[in-house]
Amino acid sequence: MACVRCPSCGTERVVVEGKRKNCRKCGAKLTADMAPARPKARKAAKPPRVENPKSEAEAQEQQEA
Ligand SMILES: [Zn+2]
Repeated sequence: MACVRCPSCGTERVVVEGKRKNCRKCGAKLTADMAPARPKARKAAKPPRVENPKSEAEAQEQQEA
């Protein structure tokens, strides 16, 4: 079995090799040899960037003044 993602709506569905299934959501035909839903070690997530709290405080001060 393979977990594939619907190319139309992105819904993931488990499909048996050699068989076809229809997407639950949009009804598109899904086959096991389609693009796998599992990401292949592709982590592009950037670390959260902390803004300088000092500059924020300074901006508030300027607004009040
Ligand atoms: Zn779909």
